[in-house]
Amino acid sequence: MEFDLGWILLGLPLAFVLGWLASRFDLRQLRAENRRAPKAYFKGLNFLLNEQQDQAIDAFIEAVQNDPDTSELHFALGNLFRRRGEYDRAVRVHEHLLSRGDLSRTDRERAQHALALDFLKAGLLDRAEDALHRLEGTPFEAQARLALLAICERSRDWPQAAAIARRMHAADQGDFSTRQAHYLCEQALALSAQGDMPGAQALLEQAVAAAPGAARARIEMARLQALLGQPAAVLVTLKALGERNPAALPLAAPLLLEAASATGRRPEVQALLQTHYAQTPSLDVLEAIVAMEAADEGSGVQARQRYVQHLERERSLVAAARWLATERLEHEQFHPQIQRALDHAVKPLMRYRCAACGFEARQHFWQCPGCQTWDSYPARRVEEL
Ligand SMILES: [Zn+2]
Repeated sequence: MEFDLGWILLGLPLAFVLGWLASRFDLRQLRAENRRAPKAYFKGLNFLLNEQQDQAIDAFIEAVQNDPDTSELHFALGNLFRRRGEYDRAVRVHEHLLSRGDLSRTDRERAQHALALDFLKAGLLDRAEDALHRLEGTPFEAQARLALLAICERSRDWPQAAAIARRMHAADQGDFSTRQAHYLCEQALALSAQGDMPGAQALLEQAVAAAPGAARARIEMARLQALLGQPAAVLVTLKALGERNPAALPLAAPLLLEAASATGRRPEVQALLQTHYAQTPSLDVLEAIVAMEAADEGSGVQARQRYVQHLERERSLVAAARWLATERLEHEQFHPQIQRALDHAVKPLMRYRCAACGFEARQHFWQCPGCQTWDSYPARRVEEL
């Protein structure tokens, strides 16, 4: 017979719990009082080990009825319901536990925590939030705050998320400075969408101060400055980004290009891009360099040689397709078809990919839409990973 490891793992702590329960009872008293209850526990455990979950639940319910004071069995039963996706039954068990007057403080906190998990798993976020708030000051506090943070992020309640992150940071429950910066950026974006540019700028300044090494705040700041027609300020912001977080510079390459033209400081920006490219030959930086040189040169023939040089360093289909796009071929009439096929093949290589869950997207995300992880997208394209 094949056993599911998951059920054995569930069974082991249950066996431990049952052992602990048994040790608490005086054997003689147990014998005298109730012989049926322990029999029902073992019957339930046996069903569990045989993967007969429905019968196990029935046996545990019988055991609970025989011995209604046993909180451990309620916990086991509640968790079993939750694992099976029967959230309303799990909630009923845990609410019943909470309603009991004789429950110890530790058990009360455990039941509150279990109830919060029931609501979370069931997707009843309002009730989960309520239950999680009640875990303040308990040993489950850090865990509850993290869950609350996830709820706030999902509902895009950034001020509330920021408040929780601040409290966790102050209580040494982790380093939340980068997340704080993200929350400030999100609020700044909302303000700038409403037309409140000074308000957005103030929040972005706070975000840069909160996490000086983080890429996003500086990039959003540069974007806002570009929007406000301050290209010189854009250059200052992005130069600082290049110093503090050079790995993120490919994301800022189009902004740099724009600011270089607007300020007329092209040689300076070109030098910056080339230094970066020499250290890390990134496609986005390469494209910016090519675009800039092509604009200076007019024909762009020289600039396109950069793709060939890139191919000497990296086996890049993207660079090959870019070079080929404006090359005169011997059988010129077939070029559009060939180019179309190449461009199609290149498209997935130009995506960004979440390092945490593998979710791919055409645009770069600061928070993965797939797994909700912050900063899980590298600044490089799939082909360069
Ligand atoms: Zn992800």
